[in-house]
Amino acid sequence: MRRFKRSRKQQFIPNINTEEWLANNPNAMIQCPSQPGGLKLTRESCAKRYMTANEPRWANIGAEPFHIFVFKMNLVACRKCDVGAGFAKELKVQAA
Ligand code: SF4
Repeated sequence: MRRFKRSRKQQFIPNINTEEWLANNPNAMIQCPSQPGGLKLTRESCAKRYMTANEPRWANIGAEPFHIFVFKMNLVACRKCDVGAGFAKELKVQAA
């Protein structure tokens, strides 16, 4: 019989009350108009997705390896997104 060894490391369990956080930060999250499932994300995450989607390295990847292909297809909606372009511009202005 095989026994599983218990890890001595403590697991990280986030202790955040999301409802309270959302109540305190009502404008922190946006709802993506293009991603399925009514994806909610921060403006910074949206900007990063837009910038990642427009990196030239994603233009030359084919169907293999599959996990990269899936990641790339996930970003297709972000490639020409006006919402993401606006947040990316804001993010660049803040960084400068
Ligand atoms: S860049 Fe556009 S499609 Fe991508 S997450 Fe942001 S709003 Fe959604």
